[in-house]
Amino acid sequence: MHAVDVIRAKRDGAALSEAQIRWFIDSYTKGDVADEQASALLMAIVWRGMTAGELATWTEAMVTSGRQLDLSSIERPTVDKHSTGGVGDKVSLILAPLVAACGLADPMLSGRGLGHTGGTLDKLEAITGMQVDLDLDDAVRIVRDVGCVICSTGPDLAPADRKLYALRDVTGTVESIPLIASSIMSKKIAEGTEALVLDVKVGSGAFLPNLDQARELAETLVGIGEAEGLKTSALLTAMDTPLGRTTGNGLEVTESVDALKGNGPDDLMEVTFELAREMLSLTGTGGDPVQAIENGAALECWHAMVEAQGGDSRAPIPEAPERRTLAAERSGFVTHLDARAVGEAAWRLGAGRRRKEHDVSASAGVVCLAKPGDEVEDGQPVLELHTEDHGFFEHALEALAGAIEIGAEPPEPRPMVLERIRS
Ligand code: URA
Repeated sequence: MHAVDVIRAKRDGAALSEAQIRWFIDSYTKGDVADEQASALLMAIVWRGMTAGELATWTEAMVTSGRQLDLSSIERPTVDKHSTGGVGDKVSLILAPLVAACGLADPMLSGRGLGHTGGTLDKLEAITGMQVDLDLDDAVRIVRDVGCVICSTGPDLAPADRKLYALRDVTGTVESIPLIASSIMSKKIAEGTEALVLDVKVGSGAFLPNLDQARELAETLVGIGEAEGLKTSALLTAMDTPLGRTTGNGLEVTESVDALKGNGPDDLMEVTFELAREMLSLTGTGGDPVQAIENGAALECWHAMVEAQGGDSRAPIPEAPERRTLAAERSGFVTHLDARAVGEAAWRLGAGRRRKEHDVSASAGVVCLAKPGDEVEDGQPVLELHTEDHGFFEHALEALAGAIEIGAEPPEPRPMVLERIRS
């Protein structure tokens, strides 16, 4: 088999054979196919797409490029959630202990921040001592003991995706529905859970802001899951404005713990409860997520998970030394607060990475003092910016130009869950 023949076939619009796909992924993972050849094939896929059959084989080849977790020692039903990424999206931190408190087991293998969106692992590392790079056998043991773990995929799981993702990032080949879907699903299938719920974000803060594209991604993800025998469903959820009141690593941990104590904001809790119910329903498990918050069981699971991962769940979360507010320019109702602008501002304040080897700030971010629907007076602070370096304010404020819209009437209330996609 020759890489050039595979590239030419896809370039000319042919469907690749199972043997071609398996050979290409295997050879690229081993280093026998060069980066420039893989780049050319990826670009051809961006333009030509993939058939459902090609996509299933491509995903499976990425799954089998590395280790697959064996969760057979876990007696509870196993299930996970994956979000396509949003601003202020701290749902994973609340959801994993919440579903564990309802009797499920969630081995949540997560990622770091990407672009203007925050990463679950970066958030957790704001907790003193918290370890997210765990040996996968230790991760399985924690799930067995506590009911959930949130850690990185590590080097062993879907190594083909790790290599391809890094290449896509620098070759303009990220924005392809088959490539995004196979990348996400290869890691989730390798994780070994019996069920998966996808939170596909729609709106300015999402990678695919448009509803039709998000729906196509959701349908593709669910289709791959079904083809692999994984019970899969997807919720399309609103991401026009930051979820909850905070964006930034430590700020989001504090808000998540408040939510686990029963003090979460409505939009955040609506999405979290809907995802929890979907996870319970897919696995045919009874259990009431609202009650698990009210009776403190979810909070208990959170403390147990953090401690099992070496964290001090009662230690204070770092707070930023520098703060500045952005005020309403007129009186009225907040009609829009743009998710992407707030995510970008939080990133510029230090919550995200400028280069992949950089550390993120645990304390930087943005607090929304008012959200769409809230009434504000002229001059009333709407956003509070937190950073360790006051030199970052200027750039962050530039990102927020035009982000706050105020009108005479409150906006129509919108549901957070826009659609539900099951196979
Ligand atoms: N997340 C992933 O894991 N892969 C993608 O391609 C995009 C988002």
